Amino acid sequence: MRHIDLRNKIIKTALQLNETGLSAGASGNVSARIPDVDGGGFLVTPSGVKYHKLRAEDIVYMDFEGNVIEGHYVPSSEWRFHMDIYNARDYAKAIVHAHPPYCTALACLNKGIPPFHYMVAVAGGKNIRCCRYEPFGTEDLSKAVLEALDGRRACLMSHHGMIAYGDNLEKALSLAVEVEVLAQQYQLVLQMGEPELLSDQEMEDVMHRFWTYGDNAQKVEDQKRRKPRKRWSANVSYPKRSTFYKLPDEKDNL
Ligand SMILES: [Zn+2]
Repeated sequence: MRHIDLRNKIIKTALQLNETGLSAGASGNVSARIPDVDGGGFLVTPSGVKYHKLRAEDIVYMDFEGNVIEGHYVPSSEWRFHMDIYNARDYAKAIVHAHPPYCTALACLNKGIPPFHYMVAVAGGKNIRCCRYEPFGTEDLSKAVLEALDGRRACLMSHHGMIAYGDNLEKALSLAVEVEVLAQQYQLVLQMGEPELLSDQEMEDVMHRFWTYGDNAQKVEDQKRRKPRKRWSANVSYPKRSTFYKLPDEKDNL
């Protein structure tokens, strides 16, 4: 059996879905991209197996055309949008999908999360969208999800739940937790009144600060050294959005 480390990390992440309250029982699913040098494709949790019973060999190995390469269980019934996200975003390395209570409650009202709080920018833009309803497991759902993920690393899913992806499983899970906390805070705020939203400029400022904070600061410096100086100055206050959000194929993240 190949990719044992990654299989075990997927199981650990799936168990954390339960521990963090993002997912009760076996709802939700987790996947991770396999680097091309290790065979390509992705690993995804199987359908209908409780997370605490998962073993490394139960994780299903699939290619990017929807074929099972290795596995004795069928993959999660929602494998298709995992595959379609990996096919559409080569920088997506791991995906977490769940039906957490606060995200799902908003999504059942077809509501996304507006910029009521600066941390909304953690998903890559000024809001976190809710995609339209489509039946689970369908190509139509994948299309709806990819539209809502335009320039974002997370979205809500109408009458369903939420998705978050990242550079690795830890980042995808921690983003999912952040988004659920924001959904909870937003609902608390709505109980007290209609919040005043942050402006586009304020959110751009937040995103710039995120990108130049901690580890990212060095990445920005590295990129500055690699690119012509004029690209970073002139009348533009910040580097191009597509650069500092690290979402290379997106035109407009706001
Ligand atoms: Zn689901």
